[in-house]
Amino acid sequence: MNVIVVGSGIIGLSCAFELALAGHSVRVITRNYEEGASWVAGGMLAPFSELLEDELLDLSLLSLDLYDDFIRRLEEVSRLKIFYEGSRAILRLAFSHQMLESIEDYALKMKEKGFSVEELGPEGARKIEPHLSDEVLGAWIFEKEGNVDAERLMDALIFAMENLGVKIEIDDIVEILWKDRAVGAVKGYKKEYSSDFYVFAPGSWSRSLFEVPVYPQKGQILRAKGVELSRVLFSERAYIIPKDGYLLIGATSEDAGFDTRITLEGAGQLISGSLSVLPSLAKAELVDVRSGFRPATPDEKPIFDLGENYALLTGHFRNGILWAPSGAKITLDYLERGEVSEFFRIFSSSRFS
Ligand SMILES: Cc1cc2nc3c(=O)[nH]c(=O)nc-3n(C[C@H](O)[C@H](O)[C@H](O)COP(=O)(O)OP(=O)(O)OC[C@H]3O[C@@H](n4cnc5c(N)ncnc54)[C@H](O)[C@@H]3O)c2cc1C
Repeated sequence: MNVIVVGSGIIGLSCAFELALAGHSVRVITRNYEEGASWVAGGMLAPFSELLEDELLDLSLLSLDLYDDFIRRLEEVSRLKIFYEGSRAILRLAFSHQMLESIEDYALKMKEKGFSVEELGPEGARKIEPHLSDEVLGAWIFEKEGNVDAERLMDALIFAMENLGVKIEIDDIVEILWKDRAVGAVKGYKKEYSSDFYVFAPGSWSRSLFEVPVYPQKGQILRAKGVELSRVLFSERAYIIPKDGYLLIGATSEDAGFDTRITLEGAGQLISGSLSVLPSLAKAELVDVRSGFRPATPDEKPIFDLGENYALLTGHFRNGILWAPSGAKITLDYLERGEVSEFFRIFSSSRFS
């Protein structure tokens, strides 16, 4: 089948990757493949540390089960090595009594559901990370959580597109030309494009094409070098994520529209937050600070819509790197076998109307 994918963040490219591997003829159209949130994401695969439950946890578990194989196939096709740890990658910390209580309750619930959770306490945490602040009140490791270098993952997806013969065209899609309830074509600045099926993954910019309540939530994130860490330190003050040769320190959460500027307030918050988690970071080298836009929705859940000849996958908010393989899988299952995943019903945008 001929498929057009609009948007080249992790969501669009993961779909393009799976569909092209399955033998479909795929074209990606994107306005600017470097503006996506996917390039600056922390890359934590952290549904438990985010205290997710119910359908968001189900979606996350589907993704976590797919992740090892997704990375393996992507490395094979792209011929790039991707920094990835598939389990026990995150040390979840609590610094306030309120957070301590919330995580204790959540961890108990997860244990009752049969998930493996290790409760370490401050002393246990310091055995793993000796330089941790002595203000830490609690620490946990949720077995299934991972950490991937999102930037490298994006590089690999772009390389994979080339190796699979998927063309990435630069154009800004300004209008969808509807034929009754189906997409007839998409109109860009340069020309019109038509296809048998369309996947729309325009992230924070979704409202320019669909009537969906998706808005940008700005995040600033800092890169530093020179301090070694064995695991992600995830806390309410800041998260510090080890990658191959550097650290990511994140992230601010700002309602600032599409303002890409790096601010002293934002950088200051990341520096003071992370130093209060790991004081030994003071001697690390600051490499840069970048910003991106999380595609947010009012209920912080994604939007998965299935139309007559299209799918819209957006609103991935804080977890798009985590949820990418599941979005690609349910789209592929639909195209290959006509199988409509429950997630298309659960996360349909009709819940807002
Ligand atoms: C600071 C920060 C830290 C994060 N940390 C994590 C994390 O640790 N773990 C995690 O799972 N998630 C994390 N996220 C969230 C994650 O980055 C996003 O959920 C995910 O990247 C969204 O991917 P996307 O493909 O939907 O959108 P994007 O990556 O934003 O890509 C959208 C693409 O669509 C294109 N586009 C838009 N409109 C059009 C149009 N009309 N025509 C053509 N092209 C168009 C854009 O140019 C862009 O390339 C973080 C986000 C931020 C900002």
